[in-house]
Amino acid sequence: MTRPALRSLDEALPQLLAQAKPLHTKQTVSTFDADGRVLAHDVTAALQVPPQDNSSMDGYAVRAADCAQAGAVLRVTQRIPAGTHGTQLHAGEAARIFTGAPIPPGADAVVMQEDCEAREGEQVQVTKAVPAGQWIRRSGEDVTRGATVLTQGTRLTPAELGLAASIGLAQLQVSARPRVALFSTGDELVMPGDVAPEAMPAGAIYNSNRFFLRAMLQRLGCEVTDLGIVPDKRDATIAALRDAALHHDLILTSGGVSVGEEDHIKPAVESLGELNLWQLAIKPGKPFAYGKVNREAEGDACHFMGLPGNPVSSFVTFLLLVRPFVLALQGVTKTEIARTDTTAHFDWPRADKRREFLRVKRNAQGGLDLFPNQSSGVLTSAVWGDGVVDNPAGQTISKGDTVRFISFAEWLA
Ligand code: AMP
Ligand code: MG
Repeated sequence: MTRPALRSLDEALPQLLAQAKPLHTKQTVSTFDADGRVLAHDVTAALQVPPQDNSSMDGYAVRAADCAQAGAVLRVTQRIPAGTHGTQLHAGEAARIFTGAPIPPGADAVVMQEDCEAREGEQVQVTKAVPAGQWIRRSGEDVTRGATVLTQGTRLTPAELGLAASIGLAQLQVSARPRVALFSTGDELVMPGDVAPEAMPAGAIYNSNRFFLRAMLQRLGCEVTDLGIVPDKRDATIAALRDAALHHDLILTSGGVSVGEEDHIKPAVESLGELNLWQLAIKPGKPFAYGKVNREAEGDACHFMGLPGNPVSSFVTFLLLVRPFVLALQGVTKTEIARTDTTAHFDWPRADKRREFLRVKRNAQGGLDLFPNQSSGVLTSAVWGDGVVDNPAGQTISKGDTVRFISFAEWLA
């Protein structure tokens, strides 16, 4: 059997993403519940933030011309706590004012209370000269009316929720959550909880992929249906896939995508649609499958993706390929993850013909340490590490070299 040619990630990813047409369904959710969701419309401000010029200090609103020299004495004629508004301020007058309260007409500066001394008969002495505009937050300095403050396709984070609320939006329109059916394959797999560690039969291993894949999907805004282990009969597999396709946007499996492997997934998907097995020039994570399971009644199809079974391969392939895919389904415009130039504090003397994703950890000196065992089955590497080095094919690394670092904190967010 001839080995299929390796396909580069840079070639495969755009081909894959070309299939990820954004889902049509939109939802209106409370701004409170929109964290992590993807905005389905541009957000335009219907007002200025702040709405009026206001004080950024507790103190006195004054006319700067009255306080050109230190020592001016002014009559305190009004009091403006936040939430109220004042009246015209005349020459020789000051208004007691508090942080956030609107500047009264006629005033053009604020003196902080630390620079004032109370005098008899409702008077105040300003101990310093006051420049015009001092301690005033200008209307619209945060947001101007009519400005587009958030754009369609943005993944919302807490800061965006606050900004939307600041312009009066109690609800936001977001993309529907992709519905993902998750299957595992492999007769050796046992669910934690079903068999105690000391009772594990020879050859059995716990299903770990299911746990991180489900968590990663949920973090990316997906609604996950965990369908457990694929039944080990052809007809049952076909029935399970056909049924899952009806109610999901993506069927994701792990395991059983190696070349020539005897398993039910490949023929089952092919009988319901199409399946392409790719050999990607990446390490860990060479085998990967993409296909479609047709929904006959609707005349469309559910996406199918098959990840390798080795836990670190599954983990990394998910981040490289499934992550941008499910984000694109939600209409996210920027799915690329940042690579930061960082210094390697390790040697990697053996170049590989595949592009490698080496598990590393930042050290106190700002450099990167390498996990000693880079095997694709060693999940400890992903726990110990706080990211990966994206190392080009054919590249060795020497201590002191600049490498491209991807942080798990960002990649898993
Ligand atoms: P496969 O891709 O099915 O050939 O599996 C490759 C390796 O990954 C084998 O050692 C499997 O036992 C292991 N593996 C497959 N699926 C899982 C899983 N869900 N959890 C943990 N290990 C797995
Ligand atoms: Mg297997």
